Amino acid sequence: MTAFDGIAISSSFDSGNIAVLGREGNRFDLAIVKDHQSDFYQWFHFRLTGAKGVPLVLRIGNAGGAAYPEGWANYRACASSDRETWRRVQTRYADGALTIEITPEADAVWLAYFAPYSMERHHDLVARIAGRPGVRHERIGETLDGQDIDLLTLGEGPKTVWFYARQHPGETMAEWWMEGALERLTDPHDPVARSLRQRATFHIVPNMNPDGSRRGHLRTNAAGVNLNREWAAPTAERSPEVLCVLQRMDQTGVDFAMDVHGDEAIPHAFIAGFEGIPGWTEEQGRLYHLFRDTLARCTPDFQTRHGYGIAPKGKANLAMSTNQLAQRFGCVSTTLEMPFKENDDLPDPEHGWSPERSMRLGRACLDALHQILDEVPARG
Ligand code: ZN
Repeated sequence: MTAFDGIAISSSFDSGNIAVLGREGNRFDLAIVKDHQSDFYQWFHFRLTGAKGVPLVLRIGNAGGAAYPEGWANYRACASSDRETWRRVQTRYADGALTIEITPEADAVWLAYFAPYSMERHHDLVARIAGRPGVRHERIGETLDGQDIDLLTLGEGPKTVWFYARQHPGETMAEWWMEGALERLTDPHDPVARSLRQRATFHIVPNMNPDGSRRGHLRTNAAGVNLNREWAAPTAERSPEVLCVLQRMDQTGVDFAMDVHGDEAIPHAFIAGFEGIPGWTEEQGRLYHLFRDTLARCTPDFQTRHGYGIAPKGKANLAMSTNQLAQRFGCVSTTLEMPFKENDDLPDPEHGWSPERSMRLGRACLDALHQILDEVPARG
């Protein structure tokens, strides 16, 4: 904790990240701390206390060296005084510094890169979903910090669906998405969920990277390893999180997979596929595009015009999960990306992209899967 005239900034809590370098008048000079044993940084999360009614300037001077500096253009920071509703606050980016201007309306205000999803909330989610009829909960592995890798299994159908999220721990919208998808999938009154559970068995890892989540990392685990570059050859020393999930996938097979992420720079929700894998087939590609286009019809919060470039044939990086699963299992494999900033097609000046929209996109993805699942072959 660093205190000036009764105003304090602290980050020593679950997913906290900031360093206080100094203060000049009402301006605080801050820096985002790098992921442990890594050069990546962009996630910030801190508490500001004792500044009710005081106009403050919070200047993050090392923003220009962050992993995705293009993510700061038109970005607005998230702030909350009740830790439930997160609103966007005035933010500007110039000369490598991100400057947040805020006059707190409460004695304590939390600021973050995106609405946080704490490990305590993760445990609440797992406990709540695991207690519902037909859901099995297993601890399938342990992280380097000794946290559990949780797997939830539900449904009775012959097709094998895998959802996994938050390989990159700072992409908290991915676990908000999971909460929306899991709440719907376990709703006994939801016809889409009932139909999906009759036709498929779902294997769901709501958080692939508990250590990075708790440590306040952007992109890596406790050893500074980017888990989404480990899928070709995961090891117990570097990436036990990926190793335990891939071993279980080898046992179940995979027919359809979604890897859920957030993108720092692109102000849209989109998916990426596996076009460059050596084993690519026309049918795999057709089903991938069918899912993508169906999802775009299910919700105006998803679109197909903006996204990543496509790898040329044979040039896919098989260390990335979506490519590895499509190659390994011949399945339909997708990377879903949600914005940190905003969906520019449907902007919300007050909240930007939000936990609520992430959860609703999780529900919409189930609508799209429901519509195409009969065409997805069962190999698992
Ligand atoms: Zn990511």
